[in-house]
Amino acid sequence: MRPFARHRGELYCEGVPLRRIAGEVGTPAYVYSRAAFEEGFTAVDRALGKAPHLVCYSVKACGNLAVLALLSGLGSGFDVVSGGELSRVLAAGGDPARVVFSGVGKTEDEIALALREGILCLNAESEEELSVISRVATRMRRRAAVALRVNPGVQAHTHPHVATALPESKFGVPLARARRICRDAARLPGVRLAGITCHVGSQIVSVAPFAAAAGRLRGLLAALERDGHPIEHVDLGGGLGVAYGRERPPTPAAWALALRRGLGPSKLRLVVEPGRVIAANAGVLVTRLLYRKRGSARAFAVVDAGMNDLLRPALYGAVHAIEPVGPPAAGSVTLDVVGPVCESADALRRRARVPDLPAGSLWAVRAAGAYGFSMASNYNSRPRPPEVLVSGRRFWRIRRRERPADLWRGEVIPEVLHRERR
Ligand SMILES: *Cc1c(COP(=O)(O)O)cnc(C)c1O
Repeated sequence: MRPFARHRGELYCEGVPLRRIAGEVGTPAYVYSRAAFEEGFTAVDRALGKAPHLVCYSVKACGNLAVLALLSGLGSGFDVVSGGELSRVLAAGGDPARVVFSGVGKTEDEIALALREGILCLNAESEEELSVISRVATRMRRRAAVALRVNPGVQAHTHPHVATALPESKFGVPLARARRICRDAARLPGVRLAGITCHVGSQIVSVAPFAAAAGRLRGLLAALERDGHPIEHVDLGGGLGVAYGRERPPTPAAWALALRRGLGPSKLRLVVEPGRVIAANAGVLVTRLLYRKRGSARAFAVVDAGMNDLLRPALYGAVHAIEPVGPPAAGSVTLDVVGPVCESADALRRRARVPDLPAGSLWAVRAAGAYGFSMASNYNSRPRPPEVLVSGRRFWRIRRRERPADLWRGEVIPEVLHRERR
């Protein structure tokens, strides 16, 4: 299925023209395909076959409650990286027993929340975190299930901002020290060592880094078994890439095979934490062309979506395909597609070869479902865009466009300043 396809020249999401959605909710707007989310999840779940496994969708990729509810209904678990994301999963009706909690900087409050809600596992990233987890759990008269996050030290060949398993990375503990840390963890009164975990990075487009990481964990797992730790699961993280342009990422089946081969024969439950591969191609960002202008060296198209709406191009130099929502006009131009934010980095796409369309035309930014809305901000006091979920010929607003009053929600002018003004 192609969730975004043209019928008689017009770009649709499933059975709904994007033009109709833009007419109802305005622009910019995120539009998601329910079928694409379902297909993305099912592809990963099937790839892992019949052996015991759990797919924990990475909430930070796209965390709208409706998306989480949809995935939860398919049996998905969730990977969260903050108390806020855990609260989101609970608000969406997700099953805490299928939640893993990653991240290098969990606070005591976040750890307590996770224990109170009874999540599957805390992915601990340091010795100090392990002792805090033990202390918090003991205070609550619990034993916390933890997995130790190991940094396998592999090159992911991805953007430096999203490589997480280099020797320089802040994530996890060095593989060489993992066995000792596990031995110490087993002596902590409030901790039960249930698993081992790693996450190599994001937008990885070959199987080699996954196979290498799984292979390195294999040796550790054998040693832990010899040491008598009752390990239940191995969590190999997320990171499978998608095609934004000419990339040829592995299929979920090839990725799963690489993980299994790397691990070797194992009875452990396999946990994975995919985000991008499920969400990216399930969404587009619809934007309107406001102005065309000529600089002294470049031509520009100014659209109404800025880096506050979609940060990836400015943050990672990411290149998203951009295409008209209506029939592509004859003749094309080369220009920089830029947003309204007061930053030179606010360019959706530089030197884009695009059809020559007038102000007012609608454009779709492809593969914006992952790390799109979830990274949106209010920078320049721009209300965040709405999110829309399409299913067949129906669609729902799953988040309304923010209003001006949302921009200063929680802000207070101290009384004395009011008085001084008079
Ligand atoms: C971000 C993240 C993921 C998801 O990564 P994708 O590239 O979106 O699949 C999974 N696990 C952890 C620990 C993460 O930080």
